[in-house]
Amino acid sequence: MKILVINSGSSSIKYRLFGMEDCATHASGLLERIGEANGRLTHHVHGGAGEYRPWVQERAVPDHRQGLAWIGEVMRASRVLQGLGELYAIGHRVVHGGETFKAPALVTDQVIEGIRRAAALAPLHNPANLLGIEVAREFAPEVPQVAVFDTAFHQTMPARAFLYALPYELYEGLGVRRYGFHGTSHHYVAKEAARFQGRPLESLDLITLHLGNGASAAAIRRGQSVDTSMGLTPLEGLVMGTRSGDLDPAIPFFLAQRTGKSLAEVEKLLNEASGLKGLCGRNDMREVLGLAEAGDPNGRLAAEVFCYRVRKYIGAYLAVLGRLDALVFTGGIGENSPAIRARCCEGLAGLGILVDPDRNEAAADGPCEIQPAGAAVQVLVIPTNEELEIARQTLEIIAG
Ligand code: ADP
Repeated sequence: MKILVINSGSSSIKYRLFGMEDCATHASGLLERIGEANGRLTHHVHGGAGEYRPWVQERAVPDHRQGLAWIGEVMRASRVLQGLGELYAIGHRVVHGGETFKAPALVTDQVIEGIRRAAALAPLHNPANLLGIEVAREFAPEVPQVAVFDTAFHQTMPARAFLYALPYELYEGLGVRRYGFHGTSHHYVAKEAARFQGRPLESLDLITLHLGNGASAAAIRRGQSVDTSMGLTPLEGLVMGTRSGDLDPAIPFFLAQRTGKSLAEVEKLLNEASGLKGLCGRNDMREVLGLAEAGDPNGRLAAEVFCYRVRKYIGAYLAVLGRLDALVFTGGIGENSPAIRARCCEGLAGLGILVDPDRNEAAADGPCEIQPAGAAVQVLVIPTNEELEIARQTLEIIAG
């Protein structure tokens, strides 16, 4: 039996097929450009003595329904899934669960209604996630489906961490509060950190740093999220590829007044033209570091602002937790850039956080510790695997 994980976006469907017993990946892929004449499906077959063959095909994909049908065809043709009868369950990534979903949920009509209600908080994401769920239910009505929410892990935050100092009725009436995102990733690496240490997660205080195109930090006390840097939306907190992260809240009004931009234009500027891209013209950290190495002053500044913001959050979350067992780096940047990891920890020796240069350079493939021997705080590099976490949670919900 197999578990299919689906991440349905507005114009794309990402998927991964796992074996149920060992949670090994059998296939994975990405369908892009749904709604266009030249939809593209990239499908990988895993396994078979390390064999790894991408299939790339193009054709018109008018909608998600036909998109999922095409994915099903390719799965059958590549012999990774002969029929729907082989599917034990389908797990779906859902961006926003609001306050309703504190854990993954078996999909029912009521759950679908809850996801639809939470769409008011994530109008770009939840409707696309929902489309994936509805189409999958239509194709496979017999297969149980589970919704796994990006916000759920952070639902343990106390009110002092999730409330903004705004009129309270805005929280009660409109749900304006911190929700946090990347929850599946923070939860996964926290569990992996516990496994690496050979200790129960419930005994650990952690700061997890998910540094990718989107970036967020979480303070985890005894295994539960008690604060996180993203807020009502994924715009708050750390500096990201194209998102500004924290700002003086008066800046949008200032920009609207001084540039004549509409609110929608300012929102776009903060989400799509800010962050690393805004500072130096590149949103990809490899290119930013390349610019910095070539002596470009804005490239240097962008990397510096990025790392400084991470350091501020490490300090803040250390104050939140009062103690720390481990600091965890994950995400494309956190997993792959020794230079950024070192700079994020610069000057933190007084707080017990140190990075050993040789261990940091050598860290690769799988959980690694990079602090020097005898350091008070373990510094870990742990590759995240959100799809695997969704598959495991799906399995837990159905088996449970
Ligand atoms: P997403 O948030 O889209 O899932 P990822 O977690 O894949 O993104 O992270 C993408 C980021 O990781 C990009 O900024 C990319 O430059 C960065 N990255 C990947 N490899 C390296 C590397 N070796 N050094 C520095 N940055 C890297």
